[in-house]
This record gives sequence, structure tokens and C-alpha cells, in this order.
Amino acid sequence: MADSFDVIVIGGGPAGYPAAIRAGQNGLSVACIDEWKNHDGSAAFGGTCLNAGCIPSKALLESTELYHRAREEFAVHGIQVPGVSMDVATMQKRKSGIVKKMTDGVMALLKGAGVTPLQGHGRLLPDRKVEFKSHQGEVRTLSAKHVVLASGSTPIELKSAPIDGRRIIDSWGALELTAVPKRLGVIGAGVIGLELGSVWRRLGSEVVVLEALDTFLAIADQQLAKEAAKHFKKLGMDIRTGAKVTGAAVKGDAVKVSYTDAKGEQSLEVDTLVVAVGRRPFTAGLLAEGTGVQLDARGFITVDDKCRTGVEGVWAIGDCVRGPMLAHKGKEEGVMVADLIAGHYGEVNYRIEPSVIYTAPEIAWVGETEEQVKASGRPYKVGVFPFMASGRARAMESTQGFAKLIADKASDEILGVHIIGPMAGELIAEAVLAMEYTASAEDLQRTIHAHPTLSEALHEAALAADKRAIDNINR
Ligand code: FAD
Ligand code: AMP
Repeated sequence: MADSFDVIVIGGGPAGYPAAIRAGQNGLSVACIDEWKNHDGSAAFGGTCLNAGCIPSKALLESTELYHRAREEFAVHGIQVPGVSMDVATMQKRKSGIVKKMTDGVMALLKGAGVTPLQGHGRLLPDRKVEFKSHQGEVRTLSAKHVVLASGSTPIELKSAPIDGRRIIDSWGALELTAVPKRLGVIGAGVIGLELGSVWRRLGSEVVVLEALDTFLAIADQQLAKEAAKHFKKLGMDIRTGAKVTGAAVKGDAVKVSYTDAKGEQSLEVDTLVVAVGRRPFTAGLLAEGTGVQLDARGFITVDDKCRTGVEGVWAIGDCVRGPMLAHKGKEEGVMVADLIAGHYGEVNYRIEPSVIYTAPEIAWVGETEEQVKASGRPYKVGVFPFMASGRARAMESTQGFAKLIADKASDEILGVHIIGPMAGELIAEAVLAMEYTASAEDLQRTIHAHPTLSEALHEAALAADKRAIDNINR
């Protein structure tokens, strides 16, 4: 194997592996180093997203949503499924099979693009040299014209609730439970906490989510957040906002959680506690002395809008740099950097990044929330269309939620789209594309949407912004 490459990527998650593949497509010689090891000790490409994040969580969300629907919602269609039950071992086996196929797929994709995959630890040395230590312990010094750092992130730990891997677990642990806990506590009502809480609630756990902030889903448009809170409540999730966890102690088979809220000191006993209070950039062992790469106060690698670290030929992308910790954001940064290295055009439009929460109903948005638009002082208009008025949603028996579009009052430019409802994560793609092309509400109004589809909800929301909705009364 060569010791010298055009590009070395450190990290094979959804930021690193696309960077390596695109660099290979651009005709460059590339190595991609990744140190991920699963709980069973097997090495795998794909990073957090494929092994312990996006993919396994969506697999479990799908299985548990089907189970929930079979129990609670099939009867209305006339489908009788008495005695429906869930075999957790089969569900987990399916999830692991999906993860394995996807991570093996990444290895195949890397090889297909001519990338040299290296499994082990990578450390940036000065002058674009990289020390590689394989999982077998072999150490080699490699060199490259460009090094791309894509070391990702790791869960934030709470001193007050230390992970023991048994009763107090992190999000990865919550994806690997082999039995349904009777009482499940979740610290943090962020995207990960809500998704994991939903999975186990649907299987019968009594779920209590403790969230330090007073506002539920503060990152989302608040009309959306309020609607979401209603549905979580209906599912039976007990979400307590303004509840800051101060301690957690394992007592026999239970965990005693202490927290403070507006009323003072509170406590809660659960069988399993999931700590889902966010993630922090992971750079342990990544940078040798004297590389010149800077970290900011929160530990993120400092980069500009093109992911340049300021050190000639050293770039950083994905969760280890500023911006939302999302797989698709990292992927686009990886592609941009690989194109810039090859002398091509590259850009990430950070203004238009979709967010999706894969609960039921799904929650998705892009652009500014109504609160942000209002705060900017820009005159705006809003159109809302409830799925209740959608023929397709009715046929699907999935009429929860709405599509909301916010546009500039004067120019008509779409500023934000917020959807809670069936397949919201898929529906938001149209809004992302529209905004990428600086579309106006009128552009969407004049675009034909197939009938009956869920996508008509966005069409009608655009019409509603001008009080011209056809399938709903304009107010
Ligand atoms: P990572 O995926 O963390 O990959 C970094 C890789 O680099 C790892 O394999 C790591 O082992 C390796 N590495 C680190 N340092 C070194 C080193 N020195 N040498 C060699 N290798 C190294 N995002 C979404 O967009 N959609 C979702 O639905 C979603 N769901 C999620 C659900 C959960 C439960 C979690 C935890 C996260 C979820 N995320 C989701 C977030 C998403 O997983 C991350 O944003 C994404 O994985 C970041 O990609 P990355 O490549 O920057 O880092
Ligand atoms: P996210 O960063 O979106 O993954 O969400 C993590 C959530 O955890 C945030 O909403 C935080 O407010 C919340 N959080 C952080 N620390 C605590 C704590 N000690 N008790 C309760 N919630 C917390």
C-alpha cells in the first residue's frame, strides 16, 4: 500500500466517507481512516449515523410504529389482529441486519471509488502527515497533500447521571435494549430523546422525559412544537419541561432520579434511564502537538464557511465543526471539500438545511421559524393547511398535523416551511428545493401537485398564505 496520498480523510461517518468517495471520483488518490468498533468488537465504516444513530433509530421507529398501528389503528380499517405481539429480539435482529448491510455497503462504495479504507486510529501530525495505527496495532506514518478531519461527535455525559451501561445508558444503549423497560426515564427532550422515548413508549414502557428548558422543542417553530406536544401526550409520553436533572443513583434494580422544577426538588424512580442531553465534538487523540489546528471554546475544530481550518491543506467537516449535528449537513460539507480540493466549485448553503424528527407524526422544517421571522421585523404572511383536509391523509387515516409556509409579504419569497404530519420528512424535500431556487409562494401555488397526495398540503399552504386555498376555508 502507498504511504502517500492526495487526500487522507480521518473519520468514515456520513461526513468523512462522502468526502473520500467524491475525492476518488475526482481522480485523486485517497485513504479513509476510521476507528469505529461496535459493542461486539467488530470494526465498521459509517460512523455514528449508520452504527448507532440515524439508521438503527429509524429501523426501530419503523418496527414500533407498525406495532403501534397494528394494535391501535388497524381496527378502523376493519382489520382485526387479536393478540398482536412484539418479539423484541426479532426487531433488534432486523435492525442489526440493516446496519450491517449499510456499513458493508459503505466499505464497498469506498472501494468502488478507488479509496483505500484503513480501519484504525488516525492522528494528524504537522506538515500534513498522518499517523495511522491499525486495529491490529501496526503503526505507519502516511502523508497527504490534503487532510480532511471528520472525527464526529460523542454523547455529552452528565456528571449527575453517570452512564453505567446497564441502568443508566446513552442513546446507543437505548438502541440496543433487549427487553422493554417497565419504566423508562429520558433526560433531554431533544430530537434523540423524543425519538428513543417514542420507540420504547410504543412497546409499552411508561416514559417520562425530563427537559431542563421551560420551552418544549425550543428549536422548532412554536406552532409546530405545540402540535407535537399534543401528540406526544396522546401517545402517553409524560414530558416534563423546566425539569433539570441534578442526580441519578442506581438502587438495586431501579434508578432514583432527582430533579428540580418550578415547585422545587422532585424525584422519580425508573428501571432504565437514558441520558440524551446532546452531543459534543469528538477530537480525542486526533491532533498531535504543533499541527496548528485550533479548537473553539466548546471543542469544535475552527473552520471558515468552506471548512478550511486555516492550516494549509487541512480541512474539517461534519459534527466536529460548527453548525447542526446532522448527517446530511456533514455529507454536503464532505462533497464540497472534496470538490474544492480538486479545483472544482463547491458550496454548502447553510441557510437551507432541513431538520426532521422521525416521530409519529413526523416533524420537519426548513428555513426560519415564525418566531425568527417576527423577530427580524420583516413583514410576512403565513399559510397553514391541516392534513385533516387532505383526501390522501384521510384515506391513510393519518390526519394529524399541518403544513405551514411563511413568505415575505412584499417579495413573496418563501422564508420557512414547517410540517408536522404523515411523511413530513419526505414532504419537506419539496420546500428545500423550492427555497434553494429562491422560490416564491406563487411559484408553489402555480406548480401542479398530483391528487390525491400528501404533497398537496404544501401546495395548499402556499395558496393559504394569500388566502386562496381551495380545499380549506381561508381565515
Ligand atoms: P460520525 O458519524 O460520528 O463519524 C465519525 C467517525 O470518525 C466515527 O466512525 C469515529 O469512530 C471516527 N473517528 C473519530 N476520530 C477518529 C480518529 N482519530 N481516527 C480514526 N477514526 C476516527 N442525523 C441526521 O441527520 N438524521 C437522523 O435521523 C439522525 N439520527 C440520529 C440518531 C441518534 C441516536 C444519534 C446519536 C445521532 C443521530 N443523527 C442524525 C446525527 C448523526 O448521526 C450525526 O450528525 C452524524 O453521524 C455526523 O457525522 P460525522 O461523519 O461528522 O461523524
Ligand atoms: P439536543 O441537544 O437537541 O440533543 O437536546 C438535548 C436536550 O437536553 C436539550 O433540550 C437540553 O436542554 C436538555 N438537557 C441538558 N441537560 C439537562 C439536564 N440536566 N436535565 C434535563 N434536561 C437537560
